[in-house]
Amino acid sequence: MKQKSFYIKTFGCQMNIRDSEIMAQKLYENGYLESATIEDASLIILNTCSVRGKAEQKFFSLLGSLRKIKKQNPGLKICVAGCVAQQEGKKIIDRMKHVDLVIGTQHIYDIPRLLKKSETQKTAVNLSDIYEIPPYIPKTNISHPGSGKKPEKQFQFSRFVTIMQGCNNFCTYCVVPYTRGREVSRNVKDIVEEISLFVGSGVSEITLLGQNVNSYGRTNQVTETELPYSFANLIHEVSEIPGLKRLRFTTSNPKDLSDELIDCFARIDNLCPQFHLPVQSGSDAILKRMKRNYTIDDYLKKVDRLVSACPEIALTTDMIIGFPGETEIDFQSTMRLLERVRFHGSFSFKYSDRPGTRAAEIDSKLSEQEKGARLHIFQKRQDEISLARNRDYVGKTRTILVEHSDPTSLMGRTSTNHIVHVESGDKEIQAGDYIEVQITFGGQHALKGKLL
Ligand code: SF4
Repeated sequence: MKQKSFYIKTFGCQMNIRDSEIMAQKLYENGYLESATIEDASLIILNTCSVRGKAEQKFFSLLGSLRKIKKQNPGLKICVAGCVAQQEGKKIIDRMKHVDLVIGTQHIYDIPRLLKKSETQKTAVNLSDIYEIPPYIPKTNISHPGSGKKPEKQFQFSRFVTIMQGCNNFCTYCVVPYTRGREVSRNVKDIVEEISLFVGSGVSEITLLGQNVNSYGRTNQVTETELPYSFANLIHEVSEIPGLKRLRFTTSNPKDLSDELIDCFARIDNLCPQFHLPVQSGSDAILKRMKRNYTIDDYLKKVDRLVSACPEIALTTDMIIGFPGETEIDFQSTMRLLERVRFHGSFSFKYSDRPGTRAAEIDSKLSEQEKGARLHIFQKRQDEISLARNRDYVGKTRTILVEHSDPTSLMGRTSTNHIVHVESGDKEIQAGDYIEVQITFGGQHALKGKLL
């Protein structure tokens, strides 16, 4: 029997990266090994993203190119997973005859059974409204087991852990509620057990994942009791796991950011002083059209409370430029917000229509040129602010978690998630170590430091 092997190509967000790890784990537990190359695999999984048109185009062009490989190797199985699989479903199989299996975002835990099924009939499975995240605890700590290649060092000390799936907010530009379904929170016991397993095998940094982690525990029971249990409760409980040095989380909707959670940044030492708080626009009129359910005044009040709870906190955000109907005045409001908060960094994009979203129906779309010009102005100013913020660290001492070390240099991250390059290497220092450095230089995207 030829050894079954898989190759996973992951597009998109951390949630997709974690989903790919879980699929890899499940396949490994069912006798598969990981193939180092796409050509040598007997199973290829494309884990897709549909948050922007570009990501989808990249996926379809790669899928098209697999037709040739399948011709040469008819036994090859091709599976499409993730948000495009959810969105398009059976249409993918009808359009691309070389695809054997299409699985929606809720079926990653069921991949061995669905693969078996696809041996006799091409299969496409989609979302269901009644969904519970199965109590699955991976058996090992390695990210891509069985590949034979040394797993990236990073995975040995820093891991993502999914705490919930789906979103009930239906922001008008977003496909996530359609591709990831209704909000479902994982059981606290499973989350703590999974993190304890990771910490027990050397992981010291955990990032909790969800589309809107702030509403954890709101839509289903997550403990044995019916007592309310919030995201802040989970942060407290997880932070007490012995050996966990750094705790992070992503992503949050500002409307659900509670004082209880803000207070965690003042009280919990291993909760990293870094917060990604997507605002999306600085204009109340546009926020209304996006159905974000907060105003800039609400947002700023929460930012000010966060900064007073944790003065060294590093704030980052997401910004959509050129939303339908965005006027010059709206855009100037966005630029004013950038000046007011001085985000340490941001992910900013031109608005693009997504299939099935309400914003796609809104008229008064801006031209690509208009959107591009505004995006350039925004990013240029953000770069200036990020550089100034990074220069503020010069002379300061920081603890970094080493991610890469060789005889001449090492690289790591501060608790505010800033990358630090240290010229002089030290053979004693390994990836996964925590070391003290003095910041000597603040650059656009990273800092430099010297060993203390
Ligand atoms: S909260 Fe985030 S994931 Fe949910 S609909 Fe809005 S943008 Fe999408």
